[in-house]
Amino acid sequence: MADNDTLGAPRPRFTAPRPPDSLARVDDGADMRPDGLPARLDHMVGRRWPFRSARVALERPIVSISFDDFPRSAYSHGAAILEDRGVRGTYYVATGLSGLTTPHWTVAGDAETVDLHRRGHEIGLHSHAHRAAASMQPAAVAADLAANRARLRRLLPDLRRETYAYPYGLCGLMQKRHLAGTVRASRSVQEGINTGWMDLDFIKAVEISARAIDAERLDRWLDQVEAARGWLVFFTHDVSDTPSVYGTSLAMLARVVERAQARGIDILPVGAALDRIGLS
Ligand SMILES: [Zn+2]
Repeated sequence: MADNDTLGAPRPRFTAPRPPDSLARVDDGADMRPDGLPARLDHMVGRRWPFRSARVALERPIVSISFDDFPRSAYSHGAAILEDRGVRGTYYVATGLSGLTTPHWTVAGDAETVDLHRRGHEIGLHSHAHRAAASMQPAAVAADLAANRARLRRLLPDLRRETYAYPYGLCGLMQKRHLAGTVRASRSVQEGINTGWMDLDFIKAVEISARAIDAERLDRWLDQVEAARGWLVFFTHDVSDTPSVYGTSLAMLARVVERAQARGIDILPVGAALDRIGLS
């Protein structure tokens, strides 16, 4: 269920509730293969085809920190680590997963989503069913996104101009075109810094996890974003002293915040970073 570009990662296993009839079934891992050839091809084409571009020309670099899915520990530990240091993050919600327990974590529910919003964190879209777009017809992708948005807006009536994160980081060409006309911007899991001309529907990001980052690599990423005066978006999942392969320790998340702050880099939610970049 985690979002990563390691397409050979273990397939998710869920105890899924019965879905609404009009929507794609919530991904319980039974019949989808995010590592399948159609998904790979659609992703390869989609990620190279920009529908909207924007120029990043900042006086000072920006860092954003985002949490996908999001596990309860990203709420309890993750938000506290950010708030204790005076910053806020972006939480990407796949509404169909709400409250489910997976082998990796328990997904947060509506109450946590509402509370994070109240505390100043950004709530973003992450689909309803959490399926790779290539496994769905274009109309189903659009319906799924609409359901995700509708459910979040029922919880948070003032939600507007949401950003999106691709489930599994997998982007489909038709899905991307739909997103370009529907959401403010979309975040991928393609590793890199956003600088110069960037694809608004494929924001690059760097994973905070033991397999993807350590103290030395963190410093290198921060060196790069400073040199480029760009935008570095981090993403992770659970925040725990015994994190999943997709998540982070409390200490590393705190280190990300503190090392960025020590350099005077502003840490902003994704939407606020888009504001700073000058994108309406
Ligand atoms: Zn996800």
